[in-house]
Amino acid sequence: MDSVIPLPDGGKIVKTNCFECHAKCGVLCEVDKDGELVSVKGNPEDPRSEGRMCGKGLSATRILYDPDRLRWPLRRVGERGEGKWERITWDEALDWLQERVEALTEEYGAETIAYGQGTGRGTNQWTGRAGNAGGRVHHSLSPGNICLVPMMVQAFLQYGMFPTFDGCDFDNADCIVFWGANSVWTEPTYTSGQVGRSRDRGAKLIVIDPFFEHPLAAKADHFVGLRPGSDPYLAMAWLNVIMNEDLYDHEFTQKFTNAPMLLIEGANVPLNGALVEEGGNPQSMLVFDKASGQFVDIHTPGIDEDMNYHGLVQLADGSQAPVTTVWSALKQRVDEWTPEHASEMCWVPAEVIRQSARTYATAPAATINVFQGIEEQTNCKDTLQLVNILIAICGNLEKKGGNLSMPFWNQMGPLTGAEPETQKELRIVNDKASGSVYGISNPTAVFEAMRTGKPYPVRGYIMVQGNPLSWSENTALVKESLLCLDLLVCMDYYMSPTCELADLVLPSTHWTERDYLADEVCSEWVFGQQKAVEPLYERKSDVWFWREFGHRLNPEWWPWETDEELFDWQLEQTHAGVTWEELKGKWIHHVPQMPSRDYREHGFPTPSGRAELYAVVELIMGADPLPAANEPKESVFSTPEIAAEYPLTGITGRRYPIYYHSAYRGIPHLREIVPEPQVIFHRSIAEKLGIDYAEWVWIESPTGRITMKARPTDGLDPRVCVIPHGWWQGCAKLGLPGYPDGMSNANTLTSDRVYNDEFLTPGLRSTLCRIVKKKGGE
Ligand code: SF4
Repeated sequence: MDSVIPLPDGGKIVKTNCFECHAKCGVLCEVDKDGELVSVKGNPEDPRSEGRMCGKGLSATRILYDPDRLRWPLRRVGERGEGKWERITWDEALDWLQERVEALTEEYGAETIAYGQGTGRGTNQWTGRAGNAGGRVHHSLSPGNICLVPMMVQAFLQYGMFPTFDGCDFDNADCIVFWGANSVWTEPTYTSGQVGRSRDRGAKLIVIDPFFEHPLAAKADHFVGLRPGSDPYLAMAWLNVIMNEDLYDHEFTQKFTNAPMLLIEGANVPLNGALVEEGGNPQSMLVFDKASGQFVDIHTPGIDEDMNYHGLVQLADGSQAPVTTVWSALKQRVDEWTPEHASEMCWVPAEVIRQSARTYATAPAATINVFQGIEEQTNCKDTLQLVNILIAICGNLEKKGGNLSMPFWNQMGPLTGAEPETQKELRIVNDKASGSVYGISNPTAVFEAMRTGKPYPVRGYIMVQGNPLSWSENTALVKESLLCLDLLVCMDYYMSPTCELADLVLPSTHWTERDYLADEVCSEWVFGQQKAVEPLYERKSDVWFWREFGHRLNPEWWPWETDEELFDWQLEQTHAGVTWEELKGKWIHHVPQMPSRDYREHGFPTPSGRAELYAVVELIMGADPLPAANEPKESVFSTPEIAAEYPLTGITGRRYPIYYHSAYRGIPHLREIVPEPQVIFHRSIAEKLGIDYAEWVWIESPTGRITMKARPTDGLDPRVCVIPHGWWQGCAKLGLPGYPDGMSNANTLTSDRVYNDEFLTPGLRSTLCRIVKKKGGE
């Protein structure tokens, strides 16, 4: 299967992958004899996208040749943010950057430089490597705390793998649940075929989302239109129904989860061998074996575990302690949350909760897809843990049609390299959150260190594909922080608001102009994402930048002379069983599966060797190892004094399938589809305030105020509104303006006051706010 097909007229077709979102659809690029990209179309050989592409992927020629794209390195010559630049060469840029980083490192230590990115379109590992190579701390000044990391880390803690993203086996499922996830919209080509096929077979569909305009809501068997941030109550109520109606998978729960593990009641810690016997093993985790009538280690083969054991145990120190099982301790928490009780908090009828839980639990195979509707909440740890428990006890883990492990996620470690020994000591968190299971710095605390120099000065910030003035909460404070820096470097496609403040702006190649390994979110495959055309102007790939820059500072970490050498090393580390040349030649390669797929033989890679309902590592890290029904830290229930002034719960972060976060509002034919930012709220609010459709209104929160056009709807609870993100760029060809100074930026509204303790996550998707009619002249 040749990846480059010559055409009779001297042109060629190049097989590669779109990189405009995580889906990385297979693409056929037609290049003419002069080396110009003429067209792109989907490649039917891609087993995931099957030849489908979305609007932004199909815009490749327009994005590649967009005259507004950055072309060459620019160095600031005026005041920061003044917009005065000099064009320099890459050698000059890298020499200057090396000198600046070395000078700052000498003065403040390597911890003074933060590395980061925006969305991860393939450079997560290299950004991490740049941070780790510094040898002091990797701050990771990226939006990982609101995207991917919470769900990935929580899954690793409970299962030792990550099966709730590209591990959703939609194609074979009898029931599909989208929970705070909208993958057919955000990665449309990746999931739409699979979901459509399963629906044709009769698979049930459950959509859990506050917004009835979710593209699958009207088609769902159950639309669960919950209050933003109330997900833990819903998950508890699902468990309540499933446990009390005996709908769980008995064999899987008893044999392959740690439900039977014994806990000392009250202390909620595992009963281990050292507690019951002098010289016993403190690492063991005991269960009660009904066959032998003994306490035995959970790893013991062939036992008959008692999931409901309860009794007094004689301890080695002579005292007695009451013990219970994880199953009973969980049930105690779950029992409070009947569908009726949860309904009061979720604003969903109890019967909808009950019926949807039954549909999920009784399907022969069901898959749950979670994402940022859950993640961008201060209670995301609870919801994610509860969802992982639901998947496990219903026997849908590592099951065809359920949630499956995918190789890529287990193979990131070697690529980023080892964390510095001082990581824990030097990572920056603040009193707003400890970040107990997230090993890197809290972005808001790093921004604070830029402003205050505390706990130590952060003077430099180097990023690729990053625009924190769009992705981070409280935009005004982020801007104030960036203005304090001695060194700000951005590599990007366009002169973004963050680039405008930078010292050095570097031009990044489009996906049609660069070689790359497409592996993240590629399910069971890795792709040779080769360039179709030579890079235009002086654009370079992000991989090239990290490798060249890294090699100058830490050559032992970045020994590769070429990107091809780096790709070969990467493929070796991930055991893909293919070289870059081979991969480029054949474009697609199937990667061996994870051993945990065979859990009956190998168990799960967790401390208990089982899928953990009680997350043992979370106990060690100081978090609650069992989930609780925690309310968002700012909400109509937890901060009624704020809600009295700001009664609406605003969901920020709504996507458009034609844009990628804050990118591409400048591409005319995309902008024509969604020309202006629209805040969506219930028709009754518009009637009460006298607001017409498409009238500019204020959206106000305790943090700030922005303006968007009004779009009243009946598809939302009257207490909720939807505020899309990513609006800054104008489109000159359509005469549409940009939106400077965060005037229509959803994160101007979001709070930096409260965070999740485990993952340092702010509550972006449940921002208290209000809609205000503009007065004349505003
Ligand atoms: S879904 Fe669209 S943007 Fe994403 S990879 Fe596919 S074609 Fe590109």
